[in-house]
Amino acid sequence: MPTTTVDRQGLTSLLTPPRIAPARVRFRDAQTGAWLHGVSEPKIDINSFRMELALQAYTPCPYEGRDRWHATVRRLRRLGQLVGWPVQADAAHCPICATARELVGVREGPCNLLVNNFAKLCQVGLFGQTTSVTDTGSSSRSVTATVLGGGITTKAIHAGTGATAATVADVAMQTATENAAATVNAVSGSGSTGTFTVTATVTATADRSYTECGILVTTTTNSWIFLLARDTYAALSVSNTGTLAVTYSLSNS
Ligand SMILES: [Zn+2]
Repeated sequence: MPTTTVDRQGLTSLLTPPRIAPARVRFRDAQTGAWLHGVSEPKIDINSFRMELALQAYTPCPYEGRDRWHATVRRLRRLGQLVGWPVQADAAHCPICATARELVGVREGPCNLLVNNFAKLCQVGLFGQTTSVTDTGSSSRSVTATVLGGGITTKAIHAGTGATAATVADVAMQTATENAAATVNAVSGSGSTGTFTVTATVTATADRSYTECGILVTTTTNSWIFLLARDTYAALSVSNTGTLAVTYSLSNS
């Protein structure tokens, strides 16, 4: 077993890591006097499935509102005059003229929670268990394992201004204002950790003080809409036509 020697002003300490091994333990019941026997052992690491959230708020394009500039860019592009002027389709660049937007706010950390619907849809999709799931209109829907055949038609990330703290019992956003189609990116990972992200860039249609976001899915056959996750966070201010980049990272280990 490795040990470490530490010298401090002439005093020497020998650090020895704790020995981790099963140990017999017994306790005496204070009232009956009976001995209770047990074995103390290190815990096995549990497998875990975690979700992280990253939000980035960006200013509008500095040329937004200067109609002639964007109109000129659009016209030249139509005429094929802008070959080699790439448009970067991400939250950090204007989708029209590719000018960089300014990053004005970030929120990062573990996702508040996955709502109960997430667990129920896992039961349906992973275990083929027909389950009642409450949609965003608070109707109870009996969802069958047809989800296995690709039963979700739309995946979207919504952002909004509701500030009531998220709970696992949530079935809808509080005050959704904008949304965007979500991209479910490929699973990557090796060794003992895997991960994939679900991303979207939401564009503000008015000056917003965003305090919530969430993932919603729509079923193919019945167009039922279910909330999978909802987060609330300290307000991120995004001006009209500015963007909010939302990244949910799901990890398994
Ligand atoms: Zn622009």
